[in-house]
Amino acid sequence: MIRIAADWLVTAADRPPLADHGLIVDGGSVAAVGPNADLAVSHPGVESVRGGVVAPGFVDTHMHLYGVLAHGIPLATAPTGFWSFLDDFWWPKVEDALDHEMIATATEWVCAELLASGVTTFYDILEAPFAIPDALLVQKEVVERMGNRGILSFEATERAGNGVVGLDENVRLIEACRGTGGLVSGMMSYHTTFTCSEAFIHEAFDRAADLDVLCHAHVNEGVHEPDWCLEHLGMRTFEFYERIGVASDRFLASQCVQLSESERRIVVDSGVRCAHMPLSNCEVGGGIAPVPELVGAGVTMGLGTDGYITDFFEVMRGAFLIHKARLTDPTVLPAHAVFGMATEKGANALGLEMVGRLEPGWAADLQILTGDVPTPIRDHNLFDQIVLWRNRSHVTDVMVAGEWRVRNGNVLDFDRERVRARVGEQAERMWAKT
Ligand SMILES: [Zn+2]
Repeated sequence: MIRIAADWLVTAADRPPLADHGLIVDGGSVAAVGPNADLAVSHPGVESVRGGVVAPGFVDTHMHLYGVLAHGIPLATAPTGFWSFLDDFWWPKVEDALDHEMIATATEWVCAELLASGVTTFYDILEAPFAIPDALLVQKEVVERMGNRGILSFEATERAGNGVVGLDENVRLIEACRGTGGLVSGMMSYHTTFTCSEAFIHEAFDRAADLDVLCHAHVNEGVHEPDWCLEHLGMRTFEFYERIGVASDRFLASQCVQLSESERRIVVDSGVRCAHMPLSNCEVGGGIAPVPELVGAGVTMGLGTDGYITDFFEVMRGAFLIHKARLTDPTVLPAHAVFGMATEKGANALGLEMVGRLEPGWAADLQILTGDVPTPIRDHNLFDQIVLWRNRSHVTDVMVAGEWRVRNGNVLDFDRERVRARVGEQAERMWAKT
């Protein structure tokens, strides 16, 4: 049992922050929340830790751990657009080049990076068609060792001719995690409409229903997928998903940048869950997703890094800023709403229960931030202080399921220099393959 006393305690994005409050962690959960003085009396002799700001850990709803190996990759010619990005770069030079050793090393490094930036939960999508079978089991072993709460999936695709093997990979990971009581679990996943047939998409959703897990896909990252669907299927992407009967709350749709009015209605009415990646959407020139509109209509929406910039504070700032600019309205997506997407809403999008708040019975997934901002912290400004003026260097301690994973800014049981050197070696191997 541990007592954590905070100058400021954030229990949830929709609750006022509490001054001079703390919590009791018992096992993997929060056992009690209250004023520090009261908890000291009610729990005498319990190991205690003091922190500036204690808040729920972040939930990264969309990650490609292997993406780190592509940072800085040399390219003879830069991709000229979406199709050349995939055909000439991302598929041949990154995803098709991955093997188990590269995947394991990238996983270890990025798990540590995520923990160090306050991310306690992530959902990963691995596409490595020549690294299966067992790529997910390799990842599972590493994530379990690092101690993150992780949902893993393989992005099955028919583009490389082995689609069903990718679905099988997900089934085996999901079943390997079942009933273990561990922090790693699985999800069904396939790529997109333009790499997967209608029958294959049905197969993915049928398997997800049989296993009672969500089914994930990338949707409309730019104009290219809806244009492709109009040309080949005679309708836009979500119109197709509605027609074939898979638009439902079992569907986790990432990106959702370019949506027509009819597609927005389908997402809202069907209960499709969404993941928003404000920074990577900018990177690929995809556009700006209609996030305030979808959230305002009740869509469950999380935030993700997409294997691009993993400092979650930067991702929050991206979400906080770009929608105000697009809508020329400074009132949309206030800081507490963005913080909610970064925590509890993200957990909801991933189908996780009792994750993302610090209240009795909820998972003890938390971060401690320094509270040394130059202006006074008040309950009315703390979410702004966090979202706008903090970054990963202010995260001092991180706990996942009641276990410390970061103390005093250091990821525990992690040799940073050794793993950094290995990431460099694996990147060189991947870059040399093409
Ligand atoms: Zn992605």
